[in-house]
Amino acid sequence: MEFKEFLKKHLEEIKSKNLYRQRVILSRNIVNFSSNDYLGLRDNQKTKEKLLQNIGKLDLGSGASVLVSGYHPIQQELENFIADFKQTESCIVVGSGYMANVGLLQAITEEDDLIFSDELNHASIIDGIRLSKAKKVIYKHLDFEDLESKIKSIDTKGKKFIITDGVFSMEGDIAPLDKILEIADRYNAVLIVDDAHGTGITGEGRGTLNHFGIKPKDNIIQVGTLSKAVGSYGAFICGTKLLIDFLVNKMRSVIFTTGLSPIQNFISLENFKLLSEEDYRREDVLKKAKYLYDGLKSIGINIHFHNTPILSYIVCSEEKALKIRDTLLENNIFIQAIRPPTVPKGTSRLRITVSHKNSYKEIDKLLEIISKI
Ligand SMILES: *Cc1c(COP(=O)(O)O)cnc(C)c1O
Repeated sequence: MEFKEFLKKHLEEIKSKNLYRQRVILSRNIVNFSSNDYLGLRDNQKTKEKLLQNIGKLDLGSGASVLVSGYHPIQQELENFIADFKQTESCIVVGSGYMANVGLLQAITEEDDLIFSDELNHASIIDGIRLSKAKKVIYKHLDFEDLESKIKSIDTKGKKFIITDGVFSMEGDIAPLDKILEIADRYNAVLIVDDAHGTGITGEGRGTLNHFGIKPKDNIIQVGTLSKAVGSYGAFICGTKLLIDFLVNKMRSVIFTTGLSPIQNFISLENFKLLSEEDYRREDVLKKAKYLYDGLKSIGINIHFHNTPILSYIVCSEEKALKIRDTLLENNIFIQAIRPPTVPKGTSRLRITVSHKNSYKEIDKLLEIISKI
């Protein structure tokens, strides 16, 4: 097949299934209920002013891989801050959450290893498993009994890993880490928690392990992103000194890529400090999410609330999800329709996320329009 034909054919197929996607630039007058900027730090004025004061001493680019000459004082400061915040021995900041998962799983696994993975884990985890030489075992969503029966029944001479989102990106529900850690301990496995959506939200903002009162230890690895509640860009992996030392030497998405811009790391550090100091942001967003949930319930919408800012209004059909999205947009409200392959077939939805920046008035307007639809 001609290359052009290939491109056209696939796009047409995508369109015919109502799965066509386009990037959108939201104009400022549109109310956004589709951002991961839960704490409203993405355009924080204090951080902007600090950046202006410090811009003279920050390089624009890092200049090289962090292993060559791209490691700058601001990144070290950021890593120390995060390690302290998460109470782990050490931390490494990497390019993005996607790069963190892909590079981590590839680096720490070898043939004969097993990776037990929740069926609704994020795509970057799935891609990381694909790039690793380990064998994957998928367990049912949040189902630690299914996990245990699988880990019990498969024997290996290699290592075992259990990986789960802390807060699931499309559902907003929380992994039962207490139960999962018990299983990891019992079967000598390493637990990896991807807290992209837990960071700044669960466990007093310190993440989903803290939510369950679990202290960091040798067989736990925590991944988080700086692009969601932190409102910046980049990601981190927290664990033992030994682990981070190993990753510096083995993680291909650290070694063979340029370090983050010192400016970006400065923004991450300043926003992270605000996240840790200004508890009201988290408390406010969770209150607003609960308010929206109560409102949706009262107009007869079947939906779950997990004390996170993510509310998943599952409408099943792609067509219906798109229709609701478009009607909301006509009323200056944006909620993206999330469709396969981001979510499983038959579970297309409006993924509503609440931000500290959304007002109660905006939530009321959203409820009013949804009730009319
Ligand atoms: C968003 C997300 C990532 C990717 O993080 P980026 O920094 O945006 O690349 C990884 N894991 C989960 C669970 C996510 O939701």
